[in-house]
Amino acid sequence: SKDRGRNTYNFYTHQMNHDMDRRLKIEEQLRSALKQKEFEVYFQPFVDIKSRKIIGAEALLRWNNALLGQVTPDEFIPIAEQTGLIVSIGQYVIEVAFATAKKWQQTYNPYFKIAINVSPKQFRENTFVDMLNIQLDKHQIHASTIELEITEGVLLSSDAVIDSNLISINDIGVSISMDDFGTGYSSLSYLRSYPFNTLKVDKSFINDITVDPGDLELVGAAIAMGHGLNLTVVAEGVETEEQYHLLNALKCDYGQGYLFSKPLPQAAFEALLLKQAKN
Ligand code: C2E
Ligand code: CA
Ligand code: CA
Ligand code: CA
Repeated sequence: SKDRGRNTYNFYTHQMNHDMDRRLKIEEQLRSALKQKEFEVYFQPFVDIKSRKIIGAEALLRWNNALLGQVTPDEFIPIAEQTGLIVSIGQYVIEVAFATAKKWQQTYNPYFKIAINVSPKQFRENTFVDMLNIQLDKHQIHASTIELEITEGVLLSSDAVIDSNLISINDIGVSISMDDFGTGYSSLSYLRSYPFNTLKVDKSFINDITVDPGDLELVGAAIAMGHGLNLTVVAEGVETEEQYHLLNALKCDYGQGYLFSKPLPQAAFEALLLKQAKN
């Protein structure tokens, strides 16, 4: 009926206004979040599949805002990206991650690895590699212990700056990881054209390996292909022992997921390292 149509219309405009309102609020609050020290960098361990020992961590950003409460990265990172705020926020993550890496390399394992997510706009900055070099120098970090995780999104709009950044990063000895492998359209051609060191198989593939023979086959093929190309293969989103055993049988190199630990604040991560050192 006519009425129903009108109600549906009202519902959509209402929903759209609500979404826009929230987006604007996030954007506004995001502008002052760095200065107000509202971000915290969490760390999620990744383990050597064979030994189950923690060999590194991925830095994952958390944002707690007085007005909005805890906002998830899946919601605020895209807005930070669209507004360009990601450039300064991303630099902050690198600062904190490097300082933490240094600490854990001194106290725990000199080869402890830190993986950092880098978004397209950050990667497209022509000052990115200089900044990286300055931070490596400032914190006295061995380049080989740092890995930058990029998704296809970084390479989609491939231009001269992105290409030269990838080459320079590879030259300094910092590793480059293809995040969310398998979810994009062109992962294979990018693997051929760019100097990747690591493949991170997306958690949507790991999720069903114990029940879906097709997914198991795909993950096995990704691992074999990665090894054929001399890449380290990481499985993300490992949640169960059964998944772990399959990944071990498939000779996956590293694993990350709730089975080992969720992302933790620095102090809790250190407690975990201490516990492992005692075992
Ligand atoms: P991502 O890089 O793919 O990170 C993995 C996400 O999976 C994280 O979500 C992590 O908490 C979650 N996760 C880890 N283990 C499991 C598991 O066993 N099961 C399930 N279901 N999930 C698991 P998080 O921390 O909410 O981050 C979401 C996304 O936000 C990240 O996806 C990344 O794309 C982005 N992000 C987070 N921190 C940063 C950052 O510092 N810079 C940039 N540019 N992006 C970031
Ligand atoms: Ca990642
Ligand atoms: Ca991922
Ligand atoms: Ca993801």
